[in-house]
This record gives sequence, structure tokens and C-alpha cells, in this order.
Amino acid sequence: MLDNAVHEADSQVLAADPFAALGLSDSIATVVKKLGFTTPTPIQAAAIPVVLAGRDVVAQAETGSGKTGAFALPILQKIDTSITAVQALILTPTRELAQQVAKAIESFATGDRRLRVATVYGGESFEPQFRALRAQPQIVVGTPGRTLDHMRRETLSISQLRFLILDEADEMLTMGFKEEVDAILSAAPSRRQTVLFSATMPPAIRELAKQHLREETDIKIASKTKTATSIDQRHVIVSGKQRIETLERLLLGTENDGVLVFCRTKTSTIELAEALSLRGFSCTALNGDMKQADRDRAVEDLRSGKRKIVVATDVAARGIDVSRITHVINYDFPSDPETYVHRIGRTGRAGRAGTAVLFVNLKERNKLRILERITKSPIPPIQVPSRYDIQQQRVQELKDAVVQRV
Ligand code: AMP
Repeated sequence: MLDNAVHEADSQVLAADPFAALGLSDSIATVVKKLGFTTPTPIQAAAIPVVLAGRDVVAQAETGSGKTGAFALPILQKIDTSITAVQALILTPTRELAQQVAKAIESFATGDRRLRVATVYGGESFEPQFRALRAQPQIVVGTPGRTLDHMRRETLSISQLRFLILDEADEMLTMGFKEEVDAILSAAPSRRQTVLFSATMPPAIRELAKQHLREETDIKIASKTKTATSIDQRHVIVSGKQRIETLERLLLGTENDGVLVFCRTKTSTIELAEALSLRGFSCTALNGDMKQADRDRAVEDLRSGKRKIVVATDVAARGIDVSRITHVINYDFPSDPETYVHRIGRTGRAGRAGTAVLFVNLKERNKLRILERITKSPIPPIQVPSRYDIQQQRVQELKDAVVQRV
């Protein structure tokens, strides 16, 4: 009787759990709670029941929306860890995103020791990936080129695949992976479930869905050009040599933790990182010419706080999810509004506040107005601290430190 009463009380608590209410198991709901997630994000609330019901899904959702949980949680619930074949394949446009997704899946795992996740991507030697694939993972996360490569070498078999996820499908096409994505989709068993996530829905994505998905459910959450409200967006009119000086004053005169500075070219990331280092900042570049290990280290150092500033190109910084980033600096004006939204989305993550500063030269003032109109958010000017302000701040900090000691 007592047991029953306890059991009943338990199930009432769990029924009240918003993740369990979506159909997730008690153990997954508990893990998610331990991670500090109290309520499902809109994309999770919409997608989880549909994925659990076994339907194909096309979802429009951007980075930061919680989309990884939206597909990873139901998949974790549905895969059979007693079977050692690859049951879920998640394709991502970049190595960084592949690593992040794998990490998220591992964080969602409920402690089942039989669960294995392998990550495969280009730019790294095959050997560690062969090893990971030989360990018989149930889930593989990979970039399309390297995934197809492994399939052709027969180091990866997807004959038992039950779930195929395309994450950031629009980016995969933009990066020229269409052929690889098509080839993988065509090689997968037809009785699989397919889930496609994309921030934008251009005709090419619709076409891809039409070709490879079945009676899919459409989910739309937010448009990519709608910017998050937890980000304080600012601009500063500045040109020529004044730019580095302005950047230095912003770095010195504002309270910041992690700072991501965006430049247009790989060369300028190196030049600016060197210039900042010469001025005494702990800073590194992040671009596609760097070795994968160096790129990983740059992101890791930012995450751990070992380095405060990373100067990156758009491609290299795509998908970075480091919650300590307090500032995004658009040192070069972004090539288009989506790039801007993507850039500034690297801050204000996991519920924290963030500041994004856009450097605008005199000729770009018109572009600023267009950007404000498209993103439907004002980008007012920022008051850049003067050298005098910074000195005064330092004096005050010293005084405070002395008072504290006394
Ligand atoms: P994503 O869009 O999947 O890259 O997720 C963005 C961030 O939100 C990640 O840092 C997640 O850990 C976090 N996140 C995902 N789902 C939730 C949730 N339901 N509640 C709070 N944070 C979440």
C-alpha cells in the first residue's frame, strides 16, 4: 500500500514535469532537470512529441533555440543500446557543431554505459575516427564529406539506421555539401525517420525535404533575422586607425569576460590578434587556415577563461556555444543581416546578458539603417569610454581594493 502511495505520488510529480509531459521518460526528464533546464524551449515543446511519435520533421529553428535537445532527447529515448549498430546519424555543417552536438548528447545521456557516440569530421586524421567507429557506436555525429568518406571505406555502416538528422541544413547546402547530403540520404534505409533542422527555408531546402522526407510535420519557431532580446546591440561610428584604439578602449573600459571579435578575412584575424597581443591582451585568432587542434584550443581557452579574446572569421566561429562570451564585436561590418544575427547570437547565451558592438565607418551608415530595419531591432550608439574614464576607473578600483584590505 505504502509502496503504491509513494509510486502514485512519484508519478504525479513526474506528470507535472514539463519534459515528462512531452512524452520523455522519467530518467531523461531527471537528467534534463539536473542540467538546469526547467521548461522546454518552444522548439523542444513542438518537436519532441512529434519525433517520439515517429514522424519526419522539418523544423525552422536557429542556434540557441535549444534545437539540439529537440532532436537528441527523443532519439536517446528511442535507440536501443543493447544493439551495437549505428542507429542514429546526425549531419552537421562544421566540425565545431559536430563536436558540440556530440557533447550535448553525452550530457543528456542517462548513465547507460552501453551508449557510444562517435564524432567524424574532416581536417583530422582518420585513425582516431576509425577507433571510435570500431567501438560500435549507436550514434554518429559527422560532417557530410567525412561521413560519406567513412561509408565508402566501409568503416561506417548505416544499414541499421533508424534516425537521420540534418542539423543546420541550410548551412550544409551553403557550404557546398549538397551532393554528399543527397548521397547519404539515398544510401540510408528507406524505413528510417528523418528530421531536418534549418534556420532558413530557401527553396533548395524545401526541395531536399520533398525528395527525402515522408509526410513530414512542419514546425516553425523563429525567423533567423529576428534577434534575441537578451543582447544589448550597439554601434559605434569609427574608421581607419581609430578602430583599434576604439576596440582597446572598449576592452579596457567595459566589464567583459569572453570577447569574440569578428573580422572579414583570415589575414585580418591574425593581424588584429597580433596587434591586440602587442597591446597586452590575452588574445588568439580563429580561422579556417589553422590546424583543427589549434582551433579547438582557441575555443577551449575561451571557454575555460584562459584567454579572454578570440578574433575570428564567420566560418570558423560558426556554432560556437560558449556561455561566458559577454561581448561580440563586429570589427568588420557583416556581409549580410543573417551573418550579423549569427555573429551576435554567440553572446547572450544560456539566459545570460550579452553586448554586441558593431563598428560602422562613415560609408556604412546606410547599411546600419538597413540592418536595423531587417532585424527589426534598433542598434543605438555606444558610449566608448575615454582614456580618462578608464584611468578614473582604475583609480577607483585601486581605492576599493585598499579599502577592502584595511
Ligand atoms: P542549442 O540551440 O541546441 O545550441 O542550445 C542552446 C543553449 O541552450 C545550450 O547551451 C543548451 O544547453 C541550452 N538549452 C537547451 N534547452 C534548454 C532548456 N530547455 N532550458 C534551458 N537551457 C536550454
